[in-house]
Amino acid sequence: MEKWAQTFNLPLPECKKCGTCCLCATPSKTYKELFEKAAAGDQFARDFFSIFIPYKNHDQARKICESVVDRALKAHQSHPEEIVFYKCRHYHFEKKCTIYSERPQLCRDFPGSPFVILSENCAFYEWAQKCKEAYKKLQMELEDMKSKKKELENLKYQQKCINLLTRLKKLDNDEYKFMFIVPSMCVVSPGGSWIK
Ligand code: SF4
Ligand code: SF4
Repeated sequence: MEKWAQTFNLPLPECKKCGTCCLCATPSKTYKELFEKAAAGDQFARDFFSIFIPYKNHDQARKICESVVDRALKAHQSHPEEIVFYKCRHYHFEKKCTIYSERPQLCRDFPGSPFVILSENCAFYEWAQKCKEAYKKLQMELEDMKSKKKELENLKYQQKCINLLTRLKKLDNDEYKFMFIVPSMCVVSPGGSWIK
């Protein structure tokens, strides 16, 4: 999150500790994919299964946060039946997180990316919208530069392109290591070879 906050100069809001993300979580990987990751020793996947237990069906999760469930299913509309929602075994409605000081890294990192599907009540919701707008603008600037091939021969424009690509590279992230992440997120590759 820090890299997004720094890149776009959008200070991170403070978590409201409402618990919605603890009670309505879903990774972008299916249960089977995540399970295989855990079996292969992936730390995120192992931590995830160490704290989260699955809801029996989507309707149970809908009772916690309908809009998150519906948006996550829409993002996975080709295989919604494979999407599982989870609740944390350590969340208590009055005490909140009962292992707060020992919570795993994935909780400390959440939401990790503005492309994660957040509840409208989440403290990060507005922040994420602003980050996404700024990111889109950055991508548009890059597209604009790409269209100016002649100017690209000019060193100044090349340098501007390199700067844009460098900023985008900082945001390139591990696509599944965040709950609710939208799989269609497309990061322009800083390794793009259009600068000759
Ligand atoms: S460990 Fe704590 S912070 Fe992490 S999901 Fe569970 S209740 Fe939430
Ligand atoms: S949903 Fe947002 S505000 Fe609520 S606990 Fe999670 S990160 Fe914090």
